[in-house]
Amino acid sequence: MSVKYISTRGKAPHLDFGDVLLAGLAADGGLYVPDRWPALSPEALSGSPGRGDYADLASEVMWPFVDGAYPRSRFDEMVRNAYAGFDHPEVVPMVELGDGLWLMELFHGPTLAFKDIALQLVGRLFDEELARRGERVTIVGATSGDTGSAAIEAVRDRENIEIVFLHPHGRISEVQRRQMTTVDSANVHCVAIEGTFDDCQDLVKAMFSDAAFRAEHRLSAANSINWARVMAQTVYYVAAVTRYGLEQVSFSVPTGNFGNVLAGHVARQMGLPVHRFVVASNRNDILTQFFTTGSMAISEVHPTMSPSMDIQVSSNLERLLFELQDRDGIRTAEMLEDFRATGEMRIDARISSDLNRSWSGVRVDEDETTSTIAGLYRDTGMIIDPHTAVGLAAAQRSKQDSDGPMVVLATAHPAKFGDAVEAAIGIRPPLPPALAELADRPERCQRLPNDLAAVKAHVARCSGQGSG
Ligand SMILES: *Cc1c(COP(=O)(O)O)cnc(C)c1O
Repeated sequence: MSVKYISTRGKAPHLDFGDVLLAGLAADGGLYVPDRWPALSPEALSGSPGRGDYADLASEVMWPFVDGAYPRSRFDEMVRNAYAGFDHPEVVPMVELGDGLWLMELFHGPTLAFKDIALQLVGRLFDEELARRGERVTIVGATSGDTGSAAIEAVRDRENIEIVFLHPHGRISEVQRRQMTTVDSANVHCVAIEGTFDDCQDLVKAMFSDAAFRAEHRLSAANSINWARVMAQTVYYVAAVTRYGLEQVSFSVPTGNFGNVLAGHVARQMGLPVHRFVVASNRNDILTQFFTTGSMAISEVHPTMSPSMDIQVSSNLERLLFELQDRDGIRTAEMLEDFRATGEMRIDARISSDLNRSWSGVRVDEDETTSTIAGLYRDTGMIIDPHTAVGLAAAQRSKQDSDGPMVVLATAHPAKFGDAVEAAIGIRPPLPPALAELADRPERCQRLPNDLAAVKAHVARCSGQGSG
């Protein structure tokens, strides 16, 4: 029997997978979750060390969530295509560091960050669902760096999607800019705004809140609260445990919006034996407070060398809160409204102490991040990026001798964060071939003033392209 999807705030209609995929956020402001946790199949759990094909495992793990939306053979084909472009045959290879620590590399996709793992599949699912309905959308977003390129790579050349991404002119790195502007696909539209990242975000928000404009140009978002992104990320947790035959395994996850580690929780709910999740934060440590004290208070965002984790309110935490409130959506909605109003939240002491048995929160500051990059390089010659370093430092600090193996999720290739790495070890990690070629490719980008009317006119032109 296929699963239905329900909102974490209890008041939105129950939907099927295809509707949840296109809707993103629920009508009551909540996030969609499956109405029950399907069990991992014996096939999914029966991996053997180093072997087993990632795409086969991915289809097997995800199938219960999409059953009914696609024929199995079509779904298998989309999954296979999604991971065919990764530059490692295992897709998510693991490296043993010693002392029971492992590193799982999630950065072998086209933009060298872990978001490719979900977005490469979600772009295909989106296009398929739109084709089935005979619809088109225009994805509009703002990026301060990495999300834009991962989303663009995921939907380039898809027939039913135009994508327009705004970035602040002159304020992102050359590699980040070229990863977007050198994509030679007619449905990709890069815009450099003469302003800051916040200006870009405000422009996007203004377009989405204009209901008529939004409907006329069929605007859609590429945000990290989409259930399908979480779903696609559950697979590598299963792969880590089953391929290497690990027991009593824990995961240390560098965390921003809580999407990655939430996927681990989903895998555990499906029956994957996981001992503990370590939620690793940089100096934006609101989640560390939450997991150590059961309460949290919002403060301002501090910029760090791990920018994808510079977040105060982690939107996917809502899915865990819903579970902790025994799936009471009305209660969850009350807590979140309170949190919005007061900037503070406290969960029940009993719930908090239960949580401590299988979760911990660890904060890692900038100095420790740098010394972790340097220490690993000195001991092993391996180079990691600052996000991964936060995860590794948290793992080293929280691992006890009684614990089993701990897998640190490596979320970005070090070459994406060359400055921080060079500051730590004095060496600039070489760009992999795919990125090195970027320097020679022609760029395409429209530069616009920080002016809503001008940006709207441009989006309107882009949304009309290729549709007739
Ligand atoms: C997005 C991102 C993260 C944070 O992941 P969440 O799912 O938001 O918790 C960590 N590291 C890198 C490199 C990222 O791009």
